[in-house]
Amino acid sequence: MPRYVIEGAQVFDGEQMIGVRTVEVEGSRIVAVGEPGGSGPAAAERIEGSGATLLPGLIDTHTHSDVETLGHALRFGVTTELDLFSFPHRMDEVRRAAAERTDIADVRSASIGLTAPGGHPTQLRGSRNDPELPVVTRAEDAAGFVDERIAEGADYIKVMIESGETLGKDVPVVEDSVVRAAVTAAHERDRMVIAHTLTIETARRALAAGVDGFAHLFIDGPCPPDLLESIRAAGAFVTPTLNLLASLTGQHLGADLARDNRVTAVLPQPWLDNLSREFNTYPDGDFTAALATVKALHATGVPILAGSDANQLHAPGMAHGASLHGELRLLVRAGLTPTEALRAATSLPAETFGLHDRGRITPGARADLLLVQGDPTSRIEDALSIKDVWRSGSRTVR
Ligand SMILES: [Zn+2]
Repeated sequence: MPRYVIEGAQVFDGEQMIGVRTVEVEGSRIVAVGEPGGSGPAAAERIEGSGATLLPGLIDTHTHSDVETLGHALRFGVTTELDLFSFPHRMDEVRRAAAERTDIADVRSASIGLTAPGGHPTQLRGSRNDPELPVVTRAEDAAGFVDERIAEGADYIKVMIESGETLGKDVPVVEDSVVRAAVTAAHERDRMVIAHTLTIETARRALAAGVDGFAHLFIDGPCPPDLLESIRAAGAFVTPTLNLLASLTGQHLGADLARDNRVTAVLPQPWLDNLSREFNTYPDGDFTAALATVKALHATGVPILAGSDANQLHAPGMAHGASLHGELRLLVRAGLTPTEALRAATSLPAETFGLHDRGRITPGARADLLLVQGDPTSRIEDALSIKDVWRSGSRTVR
């Protein structure tokens, strides 16, 4: 079994900086986290980390993944992607690859999301030769929908409550009674429900239906105080996807990342182009208000998770891996400390999604690790200065 120690680096353990530690890995697991200069078997390979910070591999809580993009993600230190809508006939292969290979990120998936006939996201997909989406129009059919997704391997259930208002085209919205029935069925089957909503009104409807978390923050105005309180009282988490909200409202943020030589060195040109483009379907949206809402939600104790909404090439403004770094910066811009932003991409999503084997640097955890030059707990941009990435103990060739 491969054995090595990473020594001399400051360690961010998923929660906080714990100082310089010697981290010992055997096979796919971390076996010891010790004092500097401490033990470690003499025969083990030694990796020098002076001036660097060792972090748990990052978790992106909102993606649409395939095998190629899981490879991109890993090279940016994202060791797990949580896919929030994919077609099962493609996802089967992706899951198999992620289970067998260590040169791509690991993945969990919602499979297909619940939507209305002709509902989101069909309007975005044009003529992509997608199979027809299963849709539900009656509450009594919602449990059957949930069972089908679980049979396809869904780790959690996604519901779309989307009128198209911020996406440039009106689309039919799923009935509240259907969403409620789907949430009940999912909870009876021990699956969380994550809602796609982009407006205040649809966020209210999702909460009333009992969802566990939000795949986006709303972008149509400041957060009404009663909604802030309802999200907190419900114990729901929020993955704001500030990257996506920036793209919808035309903030031109992806272009900066796409010029960074730490990004251009890794991503193929079509993805750099995709990152530079944007949706700009809702220029009237209030991006500043969204930042303020993230800050207020965080201050009131709502778990804020880092998610990029990195998708396929037709969804402009995002790229797998790189955009999670963009999201970390936006969370800091919203008012989280860099340490809080890093928790939002490590220990917090691991806890929220029951991924108990990752998101922390502790003995027994999976050796999903990211070594970066500098100190991202004081300068979040340093998270992109990647020296090494390990997935399940295997070092990635960048
Ligand atoms: Zn998405």
